[in-house]
Amino acid sequence: MYLAGGAVRDQLMGHEPKDYDLATSARPDEVQALFPKSDAVGEHFGVIIVKGSRGSGEMIEVATFRTDGSYNDGRRPESVEFSSPEEDAQRRDFTINGLFQDPITEEIIDHVGGQKDLEAKVLRAIGEPEKRFEEDALRLLRAVRFAVRTGFEIEPETMAALKKCASLLAQISPERIRDEFSKIIVAKDRARGLDLLVKTGLIEIFLPEVLELIGCEQPPQWHPEGDVYVHTRIALSLLEDPPLHLALAVLLHDIAKPPTQTFDEEAGRIRFNGHDKLGAKMAKEILRRLRYPNQTIEEVSFMVSRHMTFMHVQDMRTAKLKHFMAADSFPMEIELHRVDCDSSNGFRDNYDFIHRKKEEFANEPLIPKPLMDGRDLMDDFDLSPGPQIGEILRAVQTEQLEGRLSDKEAAYVFVRESLLQ
Ligand code: ATP
Ligand code: MG
Repeated sequence: MYLAGGAVRDQLMGHEPKDYDLATSARPDEVQALFPKSDAVGEHFGVIIVKGSRGSGEMIEVATFRTDGSYNDGRRPESVEFSSPEEDAQRRDFTINGLFQDPITEEIIDHVGGQKDLEAKVLRAIGEPEKRFEEDALRLLRAVRFAVRTGFEIEPETMAALKKCASLLAQISPERIRDEFSKIIVAKDRARGLDLLVKTGLIEIFLPEVLELIGCEQPPQWHPEGDVYVHTRIALSLLEDPPLHLALAVLLHDIAKPPTQTFDEEAGRIRFNGHDKLGAKMAKEILRRLRYPNQTIEEVSFMVSRHMTFMHVQDMRTAKLKHFMAADSFPMEIELHRVDCDSSNGFRDNYDFIHRKKEEFANEPLIPKPLMDGRDLMDDFDLSPGPQIGEILRAVQTEQLEGRLSDKEAAYVFVRESLLQ
């Protein structure tokens, strides 16, 4: 029984493996006999899931050494055959993923030159790269993911095959593309990930809108860094360990600059009027197409729609500012704003202003409990249900957020004397 694939790679690189997969010459029924509580979810492929000890919730995959049969659809083999460790290594995708380790002696079993490539920091397909990408087109994105995650260079023949086979990615379901892409866009080296997706042509298959950002000129006084693509990739690189929604919002924040670009003759400058609102709409379409969950679609699109609002925070009335700051996504939006500035003109005045305000408002809830409700207005002011009630409640809330009303009595006086006289 050997440790296989990712866990061996991660350990040799000095990282704690996320999960441990085992490979064995024992047949699935023999594995099941050894671990009576196991699940034969992938029995057809020789994979048995064994639950970790003492209810740890850990799942260990135990797979019988196998050879994959022919691939007809570019996604999965028609059949598998049980075989030797050597053949099992050959069916794996990249040399650094093709290593085994004896868990007792810690000996490394390397049939694919994976150790040499780990040392040289090279990502190389096992066997003939083109053939391997034709067999399973998901490997195209996995190549980018592993290159970005390890920081390794992609070996030239593997790179050439990526470019040649990029269009095959269209065979893969949006859900599987989404899952790989999400890992690439949150990885530490996500800007390089984006560059690789562009350079290989893979992005054209699932996110062609990004290609439009290349060469989309911006006013140099605001954007000394260059075109919208350059701006976006620098902004992405400035994020630290971002949650997925933030990384997606940064990627898509200026996605509508190309279709909104105009030249203002009078002012002699380029403008992108409404790129935030159109960007929110485009973000929705893109994320829906990639089958992201609704909550992701809504939150990312919301952040894109508000990213220009930061330019006006210093002119806002307190009540409006508090409403703006009360959104659940606001902490992520501050980060989006920070990297938006730092990847262009570097102005931090709105960012600093928001931080001062956050401290100023820190002792009380941004949106405190209302001082009165509709019932109070109907009972104590003899008002009948209707739009007036809502208007009065909003006016009272504004006064409260501005700090001009702080208790119910004062709210009553305000309603009586300022709104209903
Ligand atoms: P991660 O840390 O992301 O889980 P991993 O290397 O464990 O990385 P998995 O997707 O869990 O990646 O797959 C486990 C192993 O199975 C890989 O290391 C690789 O050897 C093999 N493998 C997985 N998917 C493929 C594929 N599409 N084609 C060939 N081999 C694959
Ligand atoms: Mg794994």
